[in-house]
Order: sequence, then C-alpha cells, then structure tokens
Amino acid sequence: MPGLSEKYNSMYKELLTLCKNNLPSVNEELLFNAFKLSYEAHKNEFRDSGEPYFHHPYEVAKIITELMPIDDTTVICALLHDVVEDADVSVNIIKKEFGERIAEIIEGLTKISGVFTGYEITQAENYRKMLLSMVRDIRVIIVKFADRLHNMRTLEFVKPTKQLRIAKETMEIYAPFANRFGLAAVKWELEDLAFRFMNREIFDEIARKLADTRKDREAYIKKFIKPILEHLKMYGITDYEITGRPKHIYSIYRKMIRQNKPFEEIFDLFAVRIILEKDDSKMCYTVLGVINELYKANQERFKDYINIPKKNNYKSIHNTVYGPDGRLVEVQIRTRKMHEIAEKGVAAHWKYKEDISWADKELEDWVNRIREVFDTSTKDEASKELLDSFQLNLYADEIYVFTPKGDLKRLPLGSTPVDFAFEIHSDVGYHCLGAKVDGKIVPLDIKLKSGDQVEIISSKNQHPNKSWLKFVKTHKAKSHIRRYLNKEEERLLKDGKDIWDKKIKKLKQIISDEEFVKIIRKNKFDNARQFYIAIAQDRINIDELLTRPRTEEAEVSEIQFDDFAKIARTTAGDVLVDGEFKGIAYDFAKCCKPIPGDPIIGYITIGEGIKIHRKDCINLINMIKKGNEKIVPVQWPRRNGSLFVSAIKIKGKDRPGVLKDLSNSIASYKDTNIKAINISAEQSIFEGTIAIYVTDIEHLNRVIERLKKHKDIFFVERYTSQNE
Ligand code: MN
Repeated sequence: MPGLSEKYNSMYKELLTLCKNNLPSVNEELLFNAFKLSYEAHKNEFRDSGEPYFHHPYEVAKIITELMPIDDTTVICALLHDVVEDADVSVNIIKKEFGERIAEIIEGLTKISGVFTGYEITQAENYRKMLLSMVRDIRVIIVKFADRLHNMRTLEFVKPTKQLRIAKETMEIYAPFANRFGLAAVKWELEDLAFRFMNREIFDEIARKLADTRKDREAYIKKFIKPILEHLKMYGITDYEITGRPKHIYSIYRKMIRQNKPFEEIFDLFAVRIILEKDDSKMCYTVLGVINELYKANQERFKDYINIPKKNNYKSIHNTVYGPDGRLVEVQIRTRKMHEIAEKGVAAHWKYKEDISWADKELEDWVNRIREVFDTSTKDEASKELLDSFQLNLYADEIYVFTPKGDLKRLPLGSTPVDFAFEIHSDVGYHCLGAKVDGKIVPLDIKLKSGDQVEIISSKNQHPNKSWLKFVKTHKAKSHIRRYLNKEEERLLKDGKDIWDKKIKKLKQIISDEEFVKIIRKNKFDNARQFYIAIAQDRINIDELLTRPRTEEAEVSEIQFDDFAKIARTTAGDVLVDGEFKGIAYDFAKCCKPIPGDPIIGYITIGEGIKIHRKDCINLINMIKKGNEKIVPVQWPRRNGSLFVSAIKIKGKDRPGVLKDLSNSIASYKDTNIKAINISAEQSIFEGTIAIYVTDIEHLNRVIERLKKHKDIFFVERYTSQNE
C-alpha cells in the first residue's frame, strides 16, 4: 500500500483480512483511506502506555471485527472515532471523504465522548438513557463499546485516580448496557476488567485461586469429558468443540456474595460447553442423551432453551449432572450458530442470570430490532441499507442534564433552565435569576440539550415572572409559577385595597360607587382589581389622584360623549332640513346633544344657522313655550343600508360569562353589530356602555327591550349626555 511503512502495511492487511472474514462486505478504498487518515491525524500523539496513539483506534477497529462484526461502516468509524476530538480533523473533511453517514456517526461519537467525565455515577439507568437520547445511529454505541473495551484493556497505564473512575463507569454503565445489546462477550470482559480495578485484592485472590485450582480442575474436567468423547464417537458425532468453560472472575465473585459461600464452595466452577459445528438442533438432544446416559442429571437445574428460546432468541441446553465424586458440572449444549448469536451481540443474556431493575419494554423492543439486523446482516447485503436507515428514536422526547454536583435530571424535550430550576427545588425555581450552561451564562428561555451541565443563579429578590409561562415546559414549573403569580396577585390586591381605604379615611373623602368606577376608567384600568394592584405596586400616585378637583371627572365624560356623538353623526351623514338638504349651516345643540336616531327638530337662530335639538329637549320645549316659533322640521338622512351608531348604558350583576351573554342577546336581534363595549366591574356589579350599529330608533329600542329581559341586568338606558 502506498505511503505506509512495512509495519503499518502489515497492520492494515491484518485488519482487512479480519474484515473480509467477518463482515458481509468491505469497501476497501474507504477502509484504507480511514486507516491512513487516522494514522496521519494521530501521528504525533502517544498513549499513556507510550505507544503511538494510532494503535488505539486500530485496536478498536479490530475489536469491532471480532466481537461486534456489524458492517464495514462501523469499522471505518472505529478507525476515525478520535480524529475529530483529539486530532482536530473537521467533521466536514470526514463528510467530504467518507460521506454524510460516517460523518454523522463520528459526530455522535464526539458528542458523547467524555459525557460522564467528572460525575459520580449515581443514576446508572438515567445515564444509559441519556446516552441513548443523544444518539441517532446504533453504530455510535457499538463503536463506543469497542472504544471502552480497549481503554479497559489498557487501563493499567492510566493514573490510579482516573482508573477507579473509568472502572466504575464501565461497571455501572457500559457492562450492563453491552449486555442489553446482546454483547455477552463484551459484557463479561468489561466486568472482569472493571472489577479488577475496583477491587484489586479480591480480584487477585479469585484469580489466584482459579490458577491454583486450575490443574485440578483441568484434570477433573478431563476425567469428566473422556467417556463423553468416546460415546459421541459411537453416535457418529465428530464435528464439535468441547471446552471446560472458564468462569468469569466477576461472576464468581457475585455468586460468592449472593450465596454467601467461599470460593471453594461455588459448585459450578465446573462448566463444560459442547458446540456442534453443524446447525442441527436435533443433534443437541442426541448429545444430551449421551450425557444423561453417563451421568445422573439434576432435573431441577435442567433448562431447554432450544425448545423454548429466551425472548432474546438465546438458544442452548443447560444440563447439570453429578460428575465423578458426585461434584456438580453444568454442561451447555448448542450449535455453532446458537453460540455465535449468544456471544456476538444477538442474544443478550436478557432477563437471564441478571438483576434487571430497569427492564423496560421500549428498550426490549429495540434490542429485538437490532437483533434482527444483526441476524440477517451476515448474509444479506440489503440489510446494510436497513441499518443505514435505522434511526434511533428512543428517549428522543427526553433530555438528560447534569446538576453542578453531577446528579442527572430528566426533563422533557424543549425544557429550559427555569424548568430545570423547579426540578431541583421549588425554592430554586422561585428565585431563579439566571443560568449557566457548561459555565456560560445563557438566557432563561434557552432550550437545554442532553449532556448539558446546568447551574442556576438565584437571588432572594427574584421572583417568578408572568413571561416565564410562555416558555416553560414542565407541568411542575407551570403550576408553581401560576400558584406564585396568583398568590402574589391576591396579596397585592389586598395591600392595594388597604392603602386605598386608609388613604380615603385619612382624607375624609366619600367616594360613591359611581365615582369610583369613573376613577378607575379615567386611569385606564379595566377593573377595580387592576386598579388596586397598581396601587400596591406603586404604579399610580393616589395622593395626586385624590387631591385633584373632582369636577374634571365630569368633563371627561362629556368629552367622551362628544367624541362618540361626533362619530355617530359623521357616520349618519348630513341632516335633511325641511325634507331636503338645503345647504343651510346647522349645528347640534349642546344642551341635548342629539345623536342619530333621536327624534329631532331644527331651531332657527340668528347668526348661528339651525340648531338641531332632540324633540324632547327641555331647553327647546321651554323656548317653544316662550312663543318662539322659529322651528323647522329636520331629519336624519335615510339612505339604504346606512346604519347609526347608538350607545346603551347598562348596569347589572357581574358573573363569569356575563359579557358573552350580553353580546349574544344583542347580536341575536337582527344580527346587530357591536361597535365597542366598555365595562368595568366592582365587587359583584358591572357597569358600562355598549355602542351598537342600528338602522333606526325602533331597532335600538328593540335591543334595549331585549336587554331589559336579561335577568342579570337591572339598568338599561340609551346613553346620552343627559343621563350622565
Ligand atoms: Mn477512543
């Protein structure tokens, strides 16, 4: 191969051979390019052991081909797994040279690398889920397992303090996780390696005892096996492997703890496995028959997982018999295919010899799907595509974030620092002022991601804000914020009312309900509640408000009415004088202020044209009584389809939904349209005006009659300045 020394050339050839032997297909060009890029990228790096760094990704790639042989993509990713993080190769370069999918897997690996670093593992289950929530392609996890396995194999070169952390993480997270993936061989090795660094003394002791008893055990097994070999030959069974299965140190240790027995009394240190090369399960029963002919079986411990496979498709016969000297020996019988499945990722020891405290349906289904992929990938090229399109959506609606102490919190996707704060403690939420993510200050409404470390900055003076409700995600945060805001509002309401009442008492003022409503309206509050809260929050100056001359209030109403009258008159159009529009100047009388729809009459003045009065205007009546006959008939214009605006003054009992009921009863008459509603409520009384569009005075009167029938309304009148 060009550009490689002899040493690396032969390393490459070894890897290529492994790939060709174990994988469904190999893209040699990509494999070589990955080998070379990784070699170049890590050229100047060295591991703690002193060897070139490249040996690490290379070994990880080999582990993939041997223990987790999925496809060449996974091997390529193993070669490249550290180049972005450790050697500053950009993801873009990988995308350009190896394609989007490989770049994506490398990105995933970079993202989860070191995700647990610096944290005490206290919630292993959540850690595993967090890992899954961050990953979209299963091959990310597979490479991670191989990476971890190689790091564990070389852990002795790492500083002792770091050793313990990595070992613990492996034991708590990766070993059980590998087991869920059906990677039994990886699981056993990870456990033994981790145990060795976590409990060196006991590990060494068991290892020593295993070594000490090895000769004896081997001799015993040999004695046990001898007649079996002879009998199998008699049955014509020759193509098989029989081994004295080594027990894993960690599993011996666990058994000692569980059964509270010393090493010497753990009986199934004797274990034999018979693997038939031919994929013929009937033959397994022939072998079983041979064994039972030779040795007495312990029926209680017999398990036939061929006839009834484990849920995860684990197949094997487990038969425990009394061997020479009456010692118990467990014999496992299976075909090569069953064995491969059990060891290389397909059959997890799922719910088998395991204490599964976090078994969850979703994960189980998922593992079964992976199994199918594994199962077919060795023969079927089409399954490669399946793997490519296989996206993980597990826990995609959750995120896992760290507290500064390293606790893991699970939150729904889209959660913000405020959600996190309330998750920690309601007090933290109540006083949450700001937040840091991975040490950087962030806005409170930022969306958190899995793996973020979140720190809340709190202050006694900070309190929940209404705007928080717009972005918080968790029910917990929402309900706490609402509860706080409601409580706070009640408190302000009470405080504001107290301040107001005291002030009025002090100033010896008497304010009628009507005056009070006017004050509220004049200060542009919708209701008394808002008004009191504003007082408590010091947003209005009530001293000024109460010492100001009260007459102003009346003027305000006049102005409001005048504006209204002006709009109404403009909408209606010019008044017809004496049956037609004569172009004579006219004006509306200030005394009665007629609005469109009022019966009107014109009064001819000297110099000011025609003054238009309401027919029932007291002023006008008085003038006529005095004998002035200078009146002229006038009319509001009646054009087809034109509408007048008219206003209704209304008072009634306040209750939820009253406004809607009012609107409905107005609209239900000839589809009357409402132009504006101005209502304010105080205690249980509401009061206000409604401006509506009417075709004529008859229309208006009908609407008024309707409103009068409403049981909650006790005052309805046409709104003019004269009843103000
Ligand atoms: Mn690595």
